[in-house]
Amino acid sequence: MKKYCYYCPTCQKVTLMTLVKEDQNKNTTFLKCIVCSDTEQSKNCGVGQNGEDLGDGIKEYSPKASYEVGDILFHKTFNDTGEVVKITQRLNGQCVNTVLFKTAGLKKLITIPK
Ligand SMILES: [Zn+2]
Repeated sequence: MKKYCYYCPTCQKVTLMTLVKEDQNKNTTFLKCIVCSDTEQSKNCGVGQNGEDLGDGIKEYSPKASYEVGDILFHKTFNDTGEVVKITQRLNGQCVNTVLFKTAGLKKLITIPK
């Protein structure tokens, strides 16, 4: 699933959007804001003008992955993206990733990197 950063008029900020559909004849792209679930129409830019194709830039949260401060994660359960603001390592090897989600707020996610 392609994800884009795009300005959402409802949220009045740049949010993470998923591609709903592309109309190539009209050169129009429909994006759904994952924060408010509104669908935005982006014309004549194929998303690129105001939006940024993050592609692989957003990492889907997995307990077996390892992250760095500044990484942007997408968490399915929260249906939300957040930035890793702090990582602490426990003696048993687990990492506690403090992630600031856009709507869910601060969450601590445990990862066990191999
Ligand atoms: Zn929105």
